Amino acid sequence: MKPAEGQPRKVIPIAPAAADNSQTEVVSLYEAQKKIYPRSISGIFARWRWVMVFLTQLIFYGLPWFEWGQRQMVLFDLGARRFYIFGLVLYPQDFIYLTGLLIISALSLFLFTAVAGRLWCGFSCPQTVYTEMFMWIEHKIEGDRSARMRLDNGPWTFEKVWKKSLKQLVWIAVAFWTGFTFVGYFVPIRELGSELLALQGTWQIFWVLFYGFATYGNAGYLREQVCKYMCPYARFQSAMFDKDTLVVTYDPERGEPRGPRNKSIDHKAKGLGDCIDCTLCVQVCPTGIDIREGLQYECIGCGLCVDACNTVMDKMKYPRGLIRFSTQNGVKNHWTQSQMLKRVLRPRVLIYTAVLALLCVGMLASLVVRTPLKVDVVRDRAALSRIVAGGKLENIYRLQIMNATEGTQRYRISARGLEGLEVASESEIDIGPAESRWVAVRLQVPYGSAAPGSHTVFFDIQAQGDKAQVAEKSVFLVPR
Ligand code: SF4
Ligand code: SF4
Repeated sequence: MKPAEGQPRKVIPIAPAAADNSQTEVVSLYEAQKKIYPRSISGIFARWRWVMVFLTQLIFYGLPWFEWGQRQMVLFDLGARRFYIFGLVLYPQDFIYLTGLLIISALSLFLFTAVAGRLWCGFSCPQTVYTEMFMWIEHKIEGDRSARMRLDNGPWTFEKVWKKSLKQLVWIAVAFWTGFTFVGYFVPIRELGSELLALQGTWQIFWVLFYGFATYGNAGYLREQVCKYMCPYARFQSAMFDKDTLVVTYDPERGEPRGPRNKSIDHKAKGLGDCIDCTLCVQVCPTGIDIREGLQYECIGCGLCVDACNTVMDKMKYPRGLIRFSTQNGVKNHWTQSQMLKRVLRPRVLIYTAVLALLCVGMLASLVVRTPLKVDVVRDRAALSRIVAGGKLENIYRLQIMNATEGTQRYRISARGLEGLEVASESEIDIGPAESRWVAVRLQVPYGSAAPGSHTVFFDIQAQGDKAQVAEKSVFLVPR
């Protein structure tokens, strides 16, 4: 088997008697991971990456600290089985909205990928965003690419110890704060802060450390390996790509044959393309690939090589865009931007858009007409049916009434479905804001008014002063 480029070859001579002067070649199937030292670069895409870091992290770190009325603005309270999202209070019975949201997210990703390739990976994915933040810290403390390489390859001096220690400290602080914020979406963040300071809440501490450690490991050490080997999106994205998808491309027709040259010479007269083979595009790549070798699944579409090559082109006074965001058809057929834009509205994009629009409209409409009241009815199995004072037949139920509004509500409970059916227990009940309460309800009918057997009945729960109303089906048992 031929080893991959850069792979160590280990040749072991076998015993002379059996070997007959031949050799067996043992090739390791595993290549030791080489650390990547991306060089910093400035340019439009580098700036956009930072804009996205600020935007996403402002929302992520900031949102749990905002209040909505008397509660946290966004809180997924798993213990109380309630999700608070701005003015919405969702119960487990509203799981359909979560399902809808996941389907919409997946379809948006399909649509986005079909049109714009891996822009999500390069600009918004948490793995990219945290890696960018951790690399920025590393760069500020240890210096740029060559300084970091020197530091790593050099002996352990005082400078190396303090720089490495400081980097680790800052990384750990950012990772811990990220874990704390993440858990703050599930436990009220102010309470969580007090609990952590008092070293209370074993599970909370565990999850903060768990997510903190995951951030530290993924953004500090695994970095591009998460994108290359662990992320499933990189694997199935090729199914969503076609020749009209926007990708980062190198224009080989313009760039080849590559080679170094003096800036003042007419390189075309010497038979050279525009690529001066400076390898700057490779040095800035966070996944360590050479885009000049063609489209590769490791490319996260961050555009840093575009910035790098444009800088070189500017210095050489060549036109920009040797590496650029384009489509495979665009590069091959020398299409202009407007020609490529015309290909955006192709059948798969139109289908994704139509399905996505339908789902979004359906979900919004369903949220608008949603009743902020949920009711579950459970028959009391301990007391199936009994005769009570006054010659009445009684069945007992337990109703879980969930007030999904932000104010206290009074609910009226009534029942129908049998002649003479009435609610013998309290028929009005107050439930607090976003509160869910189990209520015992007794239904009675005059003895002998209903035939023996099981009868369908309905509970009507009506909010007073509000049009919220829910009807729930159950059965009333009449013994023989
Ligand atoms: S090849 Fe270019 S766009 Fe792709 S990951 Fe590397 S730097 Fe980013
Ligand atoms: S940065 Fe541009 S000129 Fe330099 S090696 Fe890459 S493609 Fe060639």
